[in-house]
Amino acid sequence: MLNIAAVWHNLIVGCSRFFAQLRNDASALATLRCLGLTVAFLTFLNLVDNLCLYYAVLNKTIGNPFLQSQWFYLLLAAPIAFLGRAARFYAILILLLTSLIVGCDIFLALAFSTRIGSDIVEVIYASSHTELGEFTVHFSRWEIWSGSLLFLLVLALVLWFACRRRTAFKPVFALLALALALPCSIDSLRLAVKEPKPWDEILRRNVVTELFFCFYHYREQNLELKNALQNPRLPSRLQRIDNGDILGIVIIGESVSRSHMSLFGYPRPTSPRLTAMRNELIVFDNVISSFAQTAVSLMRVFTIISDRSDGINCSLVNLCSNTGFYTEFISNQYRWGTSDNSTSLIFRSVDRREFLTETNTRGSTDANIIPALQQRLPAVANRPAVFFLHLIGNHFSYNRRYPESFNRFKQHRDDITQNLSHERARILNEYDNAILYNDTVIADLIEKVRATGRPAFVLYFSDHGEPVFEDGVTNIRHSESTSRYVYEVPMILWLSPQYKARFPRLAAEAAANAAKPYQTNDLTYGLAALLRLSYDAFPDHKNIFSASYRPRPRYIAGQDYDRLYPAKDDFKKLFGKKAD
Ligand SMILES: [Zn+2]
Repeated sequence: MLNIAAVWHNLIVGCSRFFAQLRNDASALATLRCLGLTVAFLTFLNLVDNLCLYYAVLNKTIGNPFLQSQWFYLLLAAPIAFLGRAARFYAILILLLTSLIVGCDIFLALAFSTRIGSDIVEVIYASSHTELGEFTVHFSRWEIWSGSLLFLLVLALVLWFACRRRTAFKPVFALLALALALPCSIDSLRLAVKEPKPWDEILRRNVVTELFFCFYHYREQNLELKNALQNPRLPSRLQRIDNGDILGIVIIGESVSRSHMSLFGYPRPTSPRLTAMRNELIVFDNVISSFAQTAVSLMRVFTIISDRSDGINCSLVNLCSNTGFYTEFISNQYRWGTSDNSTSLIFRSVDRREFLTETNTRGSTDANIIPALQQRLPAVANRPAVFFLHLIGNHFSYNRRYPESFNRFKQHRDDITQNLSHERARILNEYDNAILYNDTVIADLIEKVRATGRPAFVLYFSDHGEPVFEDGVTNIRHSESTSRYVYEVPMILWLSPQYKARFPRLAAEAAANAAKPYQTNDLTYGLAALLRLSYDAFPDHKNIFSASYRPRPRYIAGQDYDRLYPAKDDFKKLFGKKAD
């Protein structure tokens, strides 16, 4: 008891001596003020950034980055105490850098409903400059640019005045700092205990280091993928259970939302060709993607993740090339120079890769892909082969995805667009035109495969969906989104008559599962089954084309999709309500 009293006594006396000394030491006081102001500004910037995120992007904050970043900012500002005359320059430098990052963040939030972080890193890595340009032009508006400029201007003014003002030391400031430090410490402590990698969390969650952290993380992830695919851990007794010349065509769609295809019930006739061949198709109408972004979604689709959670075992391409299949990847998506993003990494080891937009600069509609496939088919006439076709599909800008003859939906006052502004109605119409064109591309591809007369299948699915103002707010995807339209994708299987005749049981079992809940991260197993591959402990319960298939819980952005959306989409209700 006595000891505690003595400790408190010493602490109070020590503090008051320190403060008394500060009163008389002008340079120490100036240093302390500089330090305090820097931490306060970093905190303020982080707060602005989070408010922006809250209102423009998520309608929620991630954890409590405001509190958890305090100690990190103190650490960042600590050199001020030792730098002497250079202290002020150091402070201004880190504050300017942070302001710049926050400025970018606000711009991104207002323009794209996203923020600096993994989404943007992926866009930069996975897109070309052409695509980035389209992205910016598509969404830039004068109010966004002027808003961002205004923010930076106000911030510069506040900084300038704060640096000029000279106040005497007041103990009340010290008390305020202590009052702030206490909840921050508790929160940091909680983070340190709760999270397995607290430093990662702190670096990821605060505005100063977020971008660098995400770049680093993305690079690491790509390296891991590259290593895993170069040295695959193949399942034991991997083999073909049919030695025929199966031809597999896997069409990877882009940003196609199931809710905009009339094949799935959309009121506008956006998929006439596929609807006409409806009874030749198996239409899976309860499929969602695992992620909102291309690269990460496709990485999960085409790889087998270890059950022991030590990363990626191998890819579908690894399975195919080790069983004698010829493999080819034809992409109509842009490539970032010659470097690989995770999408092209997955297909790095195929027998042949072709990027159509590199040889065709005139346009990027998916019409390119039809002759490209047709040309290649005779070369593999007598051998088992798989083609992976990566469409540009419905990637924005939507109006660049179809020729003028497909500009059919132009109405601004029909059932679909009646409650949307002129601008949004135009964007939605362009999206639907691109869907209509996509319908033709898929149907044409099926016809080319039919003409081979081989035991063949065509599987079409989209990497993820796209919201198109269904919530009245946005047509932007971001990785934290829980909007159903971001994840609900079409999945369609066409089997040639020769394939059906050879594997009637598979065809019947696949058709019986058309309405079952499914998530595309298990698609490698389904595709392996279609190619008639087998191996020890093959998880047939994850194979959507088998009678043994059992649906599993489906998560989107960490939430249970089936709990969020227990009922199927009601198109009439959706477009009947006022959405703008
Ligand atoms: Zn995509």
